[in-house]
Amino acid sequence: MDTRIGFGWDSHAFKPGVPLRIGGMTIDHPEGLAGHSDGDVLLHAITDALLGAVAAGDIGSFFPPGDPRWKNADSAIFLRLALEELEHAGYKIVNVDTTLVLASPKIAPIAGDMRSRVADLLGVEMSQVSIKAKTPEGLNLDGVAQCHAVALVERTLDEDDLKSMSAVIESQRQLEDVVEDLLSQVHGVPKKRTIAPIFDTEDIT
Ligand code: MG
Repeated sequence: MDTRIGFGWDSHAFKPGVPLRIGGMTIDHPEGLAGHSDGDVLLHAITDALLGAVAAGDIGSFFPPGDPRWKNADSAIFLRLALEELEHAGYKIVNVDTTLVLASPKIAPIAGDMRSRVADLLGVEMSQVSIKAKTPEGLNLDGVAQCHAVALVERTLDEDDLKSMSAVIESQRQLEDVVEDLLSQVHGVPKKRTIAPIFDTEDIT
């Protein structure tokens, strides 16, 4: 199995008067997270973990913080971009593990709903998504929410698939060559130019 791993981290300060968005959910809480977008620290960390897994840059390279188009944006948009990059690179998610670090609200009572929501956004099963939470003991960071995320991804086509696809193409080419030879011998039809394989197995990235 051809696998790669990615890591993401993010932080946002709590701010009164804005809705709290974590994991694509609006959470009932007196303060939200300040940010150019909706400040969803969990989705931002997962987005960076996925982009990092296929070395496709980071969230800031696709969505510069000063760009007015992303003002108050739903962070699910960033996650979708990361999924497109992952698919384009030929990989899919194996699992995602995250740790939120925040003083409040308590995440444990809503972690199940949050896992389900994030799994939907990622297009995977809930069992492939882990969301844990800790309080920032001894860090003096009660006004900040942080999130760490790792993502394991695997190639959508493994080596055996690539070899068997290559073998099918090769056998088709050999068959075409035999037919061409027979036609050429029987009817004097000149041989057609051999068609190159449609892809190079060493060059699928
Ligand atoms: Mg962020």
